[in-house]
Amino acid sequence: MKVNDVEYQCWHELRHAFVCIDLGGDVECVEFLEDHNVDQARARCTTNKHIRQLVACGGFAAELVLYRDGYLGYQDGNSMTQTLFRNATIDRAMYHSLDPRAELTEVQDREFMISAYNSAVPIIRRYMNEITIAVAELKNSKIISGERIRQIIAENKKSIKTTPFPMFGL
Ligand SMILES: [Zn+2]
Repeated sequence: MKVNDVEYQCWHELRHAFVCIDLGGDVECVEFLEDHNVDQARARCTTNKHIRQLVACGGFAAELVLYRDGYLGYQDGNSMTQTLFRNATIDRAMYHSLDPRAELTEVQDREFMISAYNSAVPIIRRYMNEITIAVAELKNSKIISGERIRQIIAENKKSIKTTPFPMFGL
């Protein structure tokens, strides 16, 4: 996976969706918009005031996990930080309930980042298998419904329960 390629974008958008569902919100779908020269994915989430902020920082948190956990290979820290913040331009404004074009202060950006790290990253790390399945489907079909995402989560829970406990030391 490369920074900002299609798969990377799928991760970002699906993470908004997974965080939203995990917190009890609703997701209509994640889809690629075709009215752009460049493929652009969007997550259509229905949130409420209690979960809106965490859903907003889900995409940023996803990119942070990909970077920190080595999915992107070596990346220069400074330019990666710039990319993370640039890709979350709208999300950061949404987090603070501001106009998408608003300039954010350093304090506001720090709050967004801390919230992503403390609250959204742990949710994301819990769904690494599920997101991998969802990314493949989104890449193929250009759209995945919220219902299908819930199904993937439910199927994975079942398979974890029925897998026999590994016997170490035998
Ligand atoms: Zn986003």
